[in-house]
Amino acid sequence: MNLLDLTIIELHEGFKKKQFTSTEVTKAYLEQIKKTDGQIGAYLTVTEELALAQAEAADKIIATKKEFPMLCGIPFSVKDLIMVEGQICTAGSKILEKYVAPYDATVIKKLNAQGAVVLGKVNLDEFAMGSSTENSAYKVTKNPHDITRVAGGTSGGSAASVAAKQAVFSLGTDTGGSIRQPASFCGVVGLRTTYGSVSRYGVVADASSLDQVGPIAKTVEDAKIIFEAISGKDAMDATSVDYKFKDINVELKGLKIGVPKEYFAKGIDPKVEKIIREAIKKAQDAGAKIFQISLPSSKYALAAYYIIQTSEASANLARYDGIKYGLSSPAEKLLDVYIKSRGAGFGAEVKRRIMTGTYSLSSGYYDAYYKKAQEVRQLITQDFENAFKKVDVIFAPVSPFPAFKIGENTDNPLAMYLADIYTVSVNLAYLPGLSLPTGKVGKLPVGLQIIGNHFEENKILSVASQMESMLR
Ligand code: GLN
Repeated sequence: MNLLDLTIIELHEGFKKKQFTSTEVTKAYLEQIKKTDGQIGAYLTVTEELALAQAEAADKIIATKKEFPMLCGIPFSVKDLIMVEGQICTAGSKILEKYVAPYDATVIKKLNAQGAVVLGKVNLDEFAMGSSTENSAYKVTKNPHDITRVAGGTSGGSAASVAAKQAVFSLGTDTGGSIRQPASFCGVVGLRTTYGSVSRYGVVADASSLDQVGPIAKTVEDAKIIFEAISGKDAMDATSVDYKFKDINVELKGLKIGVPKEYFAKGIDPKVEKIIREAIKKAQDAGAKIFQISLPSSKYALAAYYIIQTSEASANLARYDGIKYGLSSPAEKLLDVYIKSRGAGFGAEVKRRIMTGTYSLSSGYYDAYYKKAQEVRQLITQDFENAFKKVDVIFAPVSPFPAFKIGENTDNPLAMYLADIYTVSVNLAYLPGLSLPTGKVGKLPVGLQIIGNHFEENKILSVASQMESMLR
């Protein structure tokens, strides 16, 4: 038995039967990180000391209690914009290179309360802006299926660490696709959660009306366990809602699946389309009813997203001024401290977004850009509302293509933005969506996107789990 192959449930059972300890499992993962991360580049910090201490604590609980939480003793990785107390939290940026998190994010508190084990902090695009993890100020994370290709982004370190067996699971964030797209590229399960279902306290803000934390895992069942553990109301995050996960079983037989025609338009790789259509056919063979639907405002989604995301990010990132946090470049005048610190601390893409966002919000342009984008957001939300009157879930590709070559899009920001074409609408409409490994183009994984209505993660997970067993 290879400890690195086991899922959360299998590890939990193994702990119960005293087949192995959390310390043994944690050491196996730390060893794997040492062996493989020189090549993959998923980790920014390995918290070995913390991990071994947490594993030892978990082993004490496991040794003395008959019943213990599902995540007790399970080692995981954390996207480096989610704070773990006492550890550096870079958000992938030079400006936070030496920033030590003063407290645990609520999601970390919740996992720690179950006895989960933090292996380390993993790579991302700077402040979660990008689609390939190439915008990290530190390194490029490689795709474990083909190291000449990107892991996806922005939670590229999270997805790669799970795919390369360097963590049982990971926490990522999804503002415009950053959980689903890297999960799709790396062949793992990723769940973007409904806006408000998971606390964002202690998570570095990108675009606050779009950001959500969610799990990246080996299996759908694992993703469910993690989601159940991290979701729910948090007094420290006013946007979190009173929510309790309820496990349900939804039959594929009779299930109404919507397939939006706009998600199979010009530009999709025919090999990706074939894989997604085959998965849809399998669902149909299992008794699901397939409906062609239309989400007519989809064509405006990218434009609206890149105005709203940049506007919100430009406001959120104003706090990095060389005074309050992180890197500070000394200068005589205060304004020069701001200019020099931000000039030295932010990378090119983040600067581009700040400029675009500031422009969209400026007087005289606000109505033409930001306000217009908000109106489009409303239309996109209505498209989904109409769709969910007719269907239970929506099936679509996550990305029009599998993982692209490292460097392929770095000189062309627009081409990089286009990679998000099938993911951003879900965020604009505050919805949940899951990426399920569905097939491969050569050695490159392709994810099926399963989108549900607000707070219907349980439905998505149940459908995904049945699809997972059929596709296996
Ligand atoms: N690729 C999108 C962007 O660059 C989404 C990123 C994300 O979800 N954090 O904004």
